[in-house]
Amino acid sequence: MEDILDILITIQKLDDERNDTTSEIESIPAKIEHLEKEIMEANTALNEKTTRIQEIRKIYKIKEGDIAENENKLAKLNNQTFAVKTNEEYRAILNEIDFLKKENKKIEDEMINLLEEEEQLMNLIEKFKSETKDFISKKSGEIDNIKRHNEELIEYLAKLKADFDTNFGKLPNDIKEQYNRIKEVRGNAVCLIHDETCTGCFANLTPQFFNELKKRSELLLCGSCGRILVYADFDKKN
Ligand SMILES: [Zn+2]
Repeated sequence: MEDILDILITIQKLDDERNDTTSEIESIPAKIEHLEKEIMEANTALNEKTTRIQEIRKIYKIKEGDIAENENKLAKLNNQTFAVKTNEEYRAILNEIDFLKKENKKIEDEMINLLEEEEQLMNLIEKFKSETKDFISKKSGEIDNIKRHNEELIEYLAKLKADFDTNFGKLPNDIKEQYNRIKEVRGNAVCLIHDETCTGCFANLTPQFFNELKKRSELLLCGSCGRILVYADFDKKN
């Protein structure tokens, strides 16, 4: 019975380790996805700045065209002033000239703002490009590390399963069945005792029962949760 109890402790540890490893493996795709999203966002932010510079240049050209067009109109209107016949007509032309001049002044102000914005972006863009490149290479490195770690975990999990199978194979059939049955219901089948308490359900064990368990001469189950209880005096063993 001594051996069987030790095997039960071993397979429970292997089972716990398998669960932890499986959870870690399952958490990896979300981690990678998060990092890929960060990379994508960094690229988008850089693209937005580059696109804005191109956009500014395009808008600037359009505004240059608008000004030239207004200048043409102004020239024509100036010529017309020589040919007007009435005061009313003259005033109308002057109003229009005034409007176009104000319009051009407004466009020029907008162009100055665009130039300022372009200059600011141009000053920042090289630094921003290199920062983005560094950021992306750092995050890509993290993804590579996680993928490598994932491979290691998968290998480790296979080793745990092999160890588990080897040890599990040493158990008598009835105990195997019992282990699987309790595991199915409780998640874990074997509990160590700590401070005369079941570590599965934290029920206190009676002194008599505790003494029975200490003998390690038979397979005993927790009266509350039904898990296999094993007394292990680790202080003595180690
Ligand atoms: Zn219990």
